[in-house]
Amino acid sequence: MATDEIKKEYDELVNTIRHHMDLYYNQDEPEISDYEYDRLMQSLKKIESEHPEFVADDSPTKIIGGAAKREAGVKVTHNVPMLSIEDVFNKEDVKAFVSKVHAKHPGALFSVEQKIDGLSMSLRYNRDEKDGKLHLTLAETRGDGLIGEDVTANALVIPDVQKIIDLPYEYIELRGEVYMSHESFEAYNEKQEKEGKKTAANPRNLAAGTLRQLDPGITRQRGLKMFVFNVQDGPEELRKSHADALDILEKAGIKCVFHTKALDADEVIKAIDDIGQMRDTLDFDLDGAVVKVDNTYWRNDFPAGSKYSSGHIAYKYPPEERVVVMDEILVDVGRTGKLTFTGLFHDRETGKAARLCGTSVSRATLHNQDYITNMKIGIGGEYKLFKSGEIIPKLNGCVKEPEVVYKAPETCPICGSHLVREADTADIRCINPTCPAQITRTIAYFTSRDAMNIMGLGDTLVEALVNDGYLSNYADIYKLRLKRDELIEKGIIGKEKNTDKLLAEIEKSKDNDPVRLLTALAIRNVGKSTAREIMKHVDDLYDLTKVTKDGFLQMPDIGETTAGDLYEFFHDEHNLEILDDMRNMGLNMKVKKDEDASETLLGMTIVVTGTLPTLGRKEAEELIAKNGGKASGSVSKKTTLVLAGENAGSKLTKATELGIRVIDEAEFLNMINMNGAKTDANQGTE
Ligand SMILES: [Zn+2]
Repeated sequence: MATDEIKKEYDELVNTIRHHMDLYYNQDEPEISDYEYDRLMQSLKKIESEHPEFVADDSPTKIIGGAAKREAGVKVTHNVPMLSIEDVFNKEDVKAFVSKVHAKHPGALFSVEQKIDGLSMSLRYNRDEKDGKLHLTLAETRGDGLIGEDVTANALVIPDVQKIIDLPYEYIELRGEVYMSHESFEAYNEKQEKEGKKTAANPRNLAAGTLRQLDPGITRQRGLKMFVFNVQDGPEELRKSHADALDILEKAGIKCVFHTKALDADEVIKAIDDIGQMRDTLDFDLDGAVVKVDNTYWRNDFPAGSKYSSGHIAYKYPPEERVVVMDEILVDVGRTGKLTFTGLFHDRETGKAARLCGTSVSRATLHNQDYITNMKIGIGGEYKLFKSGEIIPKLNGCVKEPEVVYKAPETCPICGSHLVREADTADIRCINPTCPAQITRTIAYFTSRDAMNIMGLGDTLVEALVNDGYLSNYADIYKLRLKRDELIEKGIIGKEKNTDKLLAEIEKSKDNDPVRLLTALAIRNVGKSTAREIMKHVDDLYDLTKVTKDGFLQMPDIGETTAGDLYEFFHDEHNLEILDDMRNMGLNMKVKKDEDASETLLGMTIVVTGTLPTLGRKEAEELIAKNGGKASGSVSKKTTLVLAGENAGSKLTKATELGIRVIDEAEFLNMINMNGAKTDANQGTE
């Protein structure tokens, strides 16, 4: 591969990793498993080792995930950096590490420990002269490894965190892993589900969110736990042997991580395997096993780069798998009309829910019909179930095929309408605008700015009106005026003034350009620009009920799928009733002959960027369309002109690079013969 291709691949990889880092560290909402994430990092490291010239100072391999960026937190600079541990994925690498250490320090001891899947916290203790004991003075999260966040108030409500330690030292600093037990995690999610609130993806995310809570009362309720796994700073007695230090701490009543002493490679591997065996029986998730050089002074002889702790490696277990038997497939309709499928299953061996990484799994999302077909999913079929210690369980291949592969229903399980399958995404949707499963969303879209632009009728109000039975499809919006007095009395919209104001807005929207109405119908892939294109071919929106599928296909920019959707929509009895209803109530469906329209810009693709002196961005784009041109959001070789105002930024730079002609507003208005005269965009959007 040519170097520039590798560089391109490298840059893409960096962006992908940054994206996942942000989700993981800053948003506590990862999309991929740790295992997958670690593999991405491995690939990045490999390229960096072959091409050191690519490596920038802010490469993901040089920073530890999330910077401490919560506004609410007080930042703390760590006394001792809180580094992470370099991962290894096979036992050969473990043996190589042991050999390397023994080559320098024959007879060196190792400590092999559980690597708990939580988040790291450091605790500072100072001697209190009054009782001569160590008192907790500060608790800090890891943050970016150098600067963390003060979470002392929350640490104080974690029972595993000792507030006073009876040891005769001046100062110690301990590092531990804060985690959430499966029991607490499941209890939390159950409660959230019951209350219709968002559930946590995994125990680690919940632990992270809980430790960073602003209200220690909530932290206390959720039941965080902690194991201490390292002495960050302290007297000589705690520094020479790590295992001895943990023993001293345990005697003083501190809960320390499970650890085993090992003399050589065989013992280290055995300890790793033993911890691996434990995974099923623990009430918390493990992220691997850590191998540490026991003598803390010797650790510095084995540096692992600025980001990682010297003299440490972390062995990552391969993901666990079980074989499950499919019992049932549930189908539901989401708010967007999309069908969702959930498989319910049991473990082939135990007959119960599958145990994976200590949690019980009896359901998994089945994505879409293509996934179901490819995976040969059906009742009685057997599948590998995969879970890598965190994230959602996934089916991972069919072991025994079912007699019948599951097929999605032809009609909507909620409303009984005919379903439409999207060729490009494999999604199946109910497009019935009155389907109760999606009515709120459909109506809210109808009123939105890009559609009918009914000011004041937003999502929340639409939902309230749907729930109270005032709206069951979008035509009902225009019947609200008949219920004016009742609405005022109930106060759903507001008092008299606000109710009348909204009703007036609704009336006003009847005169909208039919392009808006067609957009508002929310037909798949028919956004505003497609709607505008379609309306060039008819004089009245209602005429679309007479267009054949071929007729739609002949319109520019309309593909097979969209043509099919359009034809289906305008030949659906239900939809026709609603259209009739709207026409009878006086909604404008006729195309206004626009005297200003021209074909001056025909065939041109124009990008608007920056702040123009008089025209709004949308207004300029509407003018481009009105004069036969095409407005685009990004500059490419296909761009004919860039219309730039103040603070134009990167699009302007790119246009200059590509040698594309840049014009200002005055020149643009000249081109379309509108020198100085601001047009009436006719739709009152700006
Ligand atoms: Zn439906």
